[in-house]
Amino acid sequence: MSQAAAPAPVHSPATDAAARATGLSKVYGTGETRVVALDSVTVEFGRSRFTAIMGPSGSGKSTLMHCMAGLDSVTAGSARIGDTELAGLSDHHLTRLRRDKIGFVFQAFNLLPTLTAYENITLPLAIADRRPDQDWVDTVVRTVGLSGRLEHRPSQLSGGQQQRVAVARALASRPEIIFADEPTGNLDSRSGAEVLGFLRQSVWELGQTVVMVTHDPVAAAYADRVVFLADGRLTDELLAPTAEGVLDRMRLFDAKNRTS
Ligand code: ADP
Ligand code: MG
Repeated sequence: MSQAAAPAPVHSPATDAAARATGLSKVYGTGETRVVALDSVTVEFGRSRFTAIMGPSGSGKSTLMHCMAGLDSVTAGSARIGDTELAGLSDHHLTRLRRDKIGFVFQAFNLLPTLTAYENITLPLAIADRRPDQDWVDTVVRTVGLSGRLEHRPSQLSGGQQQRVAVARALASRPEIIFADEPTGNLDSRSGAEVLGFLRQSVWELGQTVVMVTHDPVAAAYADRVVFLADGRLTDELLAPTAEGVLDRMRLFDAKNRTS
């Protein structure tokens, strides 16, 4: 059945949370292989805000993102998207929630090579049997700066352009929140800056909510707020970050760890 496009998002003051974790824990394995990937994490991701999640390798960044996005189950605590509690949702409901409310961008672009850029961007809508909101798709395509590239296939696009297609695909369904895991990890710094600039613009101009995992202070400086994870715990946060400020916090944390 065909469904009308979602209404325009409300650009509300960024005080309410688009997603929140409360006492969220995630344990993998049992016995000797038991790993506490997340240890009672409580955090909110503000609506129409750009939040970066930082931390050393293995600190639980991807696990937090996966639990918040319903890609992985939680061991204890709560993960909410808007008013929806993810713990206890059936697979069917989780699939629908991911399809209707969440956009994903991964390090690997995950585009279909036989489809054009435009077809890749609108594929999730086609799968959901939703008619694209043409004005919205046009706005997204313009914002990403892909207007002249819509008929190109991924192999005819640069890495940065391919990732911009992936971001446009994530935005096409007007999700409540976009989760991006190291979206610039496979890009050179110039292409990375393009993609980050677009994510930034999607928050400012389109009111999008973005949560991005990164280990790069320069990437984190595009965000409104940075939260720091270490050993599965939330350790720090920084508002209106600069790359220098983020680096300072990382150095401070390293120094504290060395002396404790
Ligand atoms: P990050 O993204 O910050 O590098 P992850 O969230 O991927 O860290 O991993 C956090 C911890 O959980 C690590 O110790 C990792 O080895 C462990 N882990 C992640 N996924 C799994 C899994 N599927 N099975 C077992 N352990 C896992
Ligand atoms: Mg990771």
